[in-house]
Amino acid sequence: MTAKILVIEDEPDLAMGLRDNLEFEGYEVAIAHTGEDGLDLAIKERPHCILLDIMLPGMDGFEACHAIRKNGIRAPILMLTALSTEVDKVKGLDLGADDYITKPFDLKELMARIRAALRRFEPIVQPKKRKKLTVGKATILLDRSLLQIDGKDVPLGHYETQILEILSEEPGSIIDRQHLLSEIWGLENEPLNRSVDNHIVSLRRKIEDDPKVPRHIITVHGFGYKLVK
Ligand code: CA
Repeated sequence: MTAKILVIEDEPDLAMGLRDNLEFEGYEVAIAHTGEDGLDLAIKERPHCILLDIMLPGMDGFEACHAIRKNGIRAPILMLTALSTEVDKVKGLDLGADDYITKPFDLKELMARIRAALRRFEPIVQPKKRKKLTVGKATILLDRSLLQIDGKDVPLGHYETQILEILSEEPGSIIDRQHLLSEIWGLENEPLNRSVDNHIVSLRRKIEDDPKVPRHIITVHGFGYKLVK
């Protein structure tokens, strides 16, 4: 089956260039030029991966990301952004995005990130044995990529869901950082490894009472991470 990529990008030249390159790589491509149209297409077309520009007329990329997740669409979302500050990255992850690429981007790197996203998407479509997890005050529904806390539903990106799933296999044990990275991103995606730290930051913001003093998702310096329920 051909993987379907939805591109939500208002700059016509960039959208066209992405379409050509993605089609050349063998993907099926749908294009939307506004956040509103992107949301409609995401619902209708059920893409396997979404490339989402942040600066869009009308509904911006952050709002579109939130709306896409609220509609139960769990395809990985890669945000295309001219903004590269940590605040913007974390904001996107809070809203359920999975990854970032900063404009102007290297086409090879974009394709590597798409391949990594697609590789991890399929397994999560299948219901998992371990569906529900309690961490502190949060209930995590792994099969729905959803976290419930204080009566609120908070969307999880699929990398975040994967991180929680791997950490929860052995709660209280230190999970080697390299193991986590290769499980999620694959060994051949070395340059993508930095992004695990952003996902950990984002998860803490969702789960911890005080994200600066984490009690549930703990960094063990020089080794990796552990989950304390
Ligand atoms: Ca734009």
